[in-house]
Amino acid sequence: MNDVVVSKFGSAAFSTSDMIMKTAQIILSDPRRRYVIVSAPGIRPDVPEDMKMTDMLFIMNARYLNRENFDEMMIQIRDRYIEIARGLGVAFDVEAEIMQMKKNLFFGKGNDYVVSRGEYIMSKMFAEFLGWKFIDAADFVFFAKDGTLDREKTFAAASDILSKTDHAVIPGFYGTIGMSSIKLFPRGGGDITAAITARAVNAVLCEKWSETTKIFSADPGIVKDPAVIRNITYEELKQLTYMGISVIHEDVIFLMQNIGIPWAIRNINDINDTGTSVTSDLPEESKRSVAACIAGKRNYRIIHIEKFGLNRLTGIGMKVFGIFTERNIPCEHYMSGIYRFSIVVKNPLFDLKRPEILAALNDAIKPENITVEKNLSLITVVGKGMGTTKGIFARIFNSIAEAGIKVRMIEQGSDDLNIIIGVYDEDYEEAVRALYSAMIIAEGD
Ligand code: ASP
Repeated sequence: MNDVVVSKFGSAAFSTSDMIMKTAQIILSDPRRRYVIVSAPGIRPDVPEDMKMTDMLFIMNARYLNRENFDEMMIQIRDRYIEIARGLGVAFDVEAEIMQMKKNLFFGKGNDYVVSRGEYIMSKMFAEFLGWKFIDAADFVFFAKDGTLDREKTFAAASDILSKTDHAVIPGFYGTIGMSSIKLFPRGGGDITAAITARAVNAVLCEKWSETTKIFSADPGIVKDPAVIRNITYEELKQLTYMGISVIHEDVIFLMQNIGIPWAIRNINDINDTGTSVTSDLPEESKRSVAACIAGKRNYRIIHIEKFGLNRLTGIGMKVFGIFTERNIPCEHYMSGIYRFSIVVKNPLFDLKRPEILAALNDAIKPENITVEKNLSLITVVGKGMGTTKGIFARIFNSIAEAGIKVRMIEQGSDDLNIIIGVYDEDYEEAVRALYSAMIIAEGD
């Protein structure tokens, strides 16, 4: 029994006792699945306006801090766990766990402690149901003083603790900071616990089971029946994350990309679907053409700064970036002409501070003219080899030209992973469709 699979299940997998039994079946159907990362219970499909346990805990803690009535929420939390324990037929002492949480709430253990009980209680109960060992993530996930993951300490502790057990149920989403305080990862951070575990036990695969439907190579709201992405690299996935398509937590990509452990993105409601595989390199048999995906975002602004002799001046970029940085506005792209320097920024971030930014630019650069172009959409054609494969640009621009669309900007990523095309918002959907037909070939779907 050498091969180990680490399986992280999202909140939907723990929403009801029926879902939990289905989750257990999935785990037990493959003996390699030996380390399970648990989420707090999710929204019950048949309960109107139901809430995720994590959100209930956040609200309860806020009410406690604001000296509002938090008992009602605590009772709802308790009752959800009691309902699950009854459905599973486990003699799990929910009352004792809730009492402990209440005591620690009064002791001032803080928001992160309270919210972490969502995964903690669920994991302990699930461990009992499976008859597996419960291992608390607080014993092997450590944060440094600045709040970042203390990788060295974490990996050493995780390997040590996890190597002593064959099977374990582990709560996701949190670890220890300082002597014994609990700290949460960002939302969706159970994925990070899974990545840490997979590294520590040297897994052959890390799985993420959630309700996320398939990962498409374009927005199905724009392109009819787009191809499913079956294989994607960690590097390519980073590009999708930047474009707002969230598949696995961003931090996971950085933890996993050079380790050689693949991730499988699976759907809990469609067990027979093999899902999407994320790897460091694409498998040989992957039949996709160069592009993996067409993704886009609307509502950008381009600020054009014009000044005669700009090409001979030094430090212009630094001044311009400084003005945006001081106001916490990321300059997502920039272009330079001979007498022109242009910055692409996201709206409404820019519009909120527009007068002061324009005044600062006038003051610092003394330009002849500043213009702001509205309603720009950015479309990214994502795929390894975008910059180095022959004929890619011709394919992209022929398709856009044939659709009669005007291109406002082009940027070729220096990492060979993307080409970004800027078009007006009104042409966005048509441009996505044109690019999709020209660039995507389904992978035997
Ligand atoms: N339960 C947490 C959340 O709702 C963490 C996770 O699901 O990974 O964000």
